[in-house]
Amino acid sequence: MSRKLFTFLLSELKTDRIVCKKCKASSEMTLTQLSGKENVWCPACQADMESKPSLAKLAETIKSLQNPTAFDVEFVLPDDEPSGK
Ligand SMILES: [Zn+2]
Repeated sequence: MSRKLFTFLLSELKTDRIVCKKCKASSEMTLTQLSGKENVWCPACQADMESKPSLAKLAETIKSLQNPTAFDVEFVLPDDEPSGK
């Protein structure tokens, strides 16, 4: 039985989509935009979407790991749908 996988390199990640848990609205920001943000607010309901550790720190960490010399980071998302459809 084969299983399809979706993989991507961390270096391919350029944009984050932040989804508000209160109203489900989303906003997209590049890692550079997000790393410079001190506060993130929902564009629809104005809820404070900041958390600790911060989204800015996440973006900075991702950016710092996008060009390491000794390795690449690849994420693997399994497709759990039954095969043979
Ligand atoms: Zn919202």
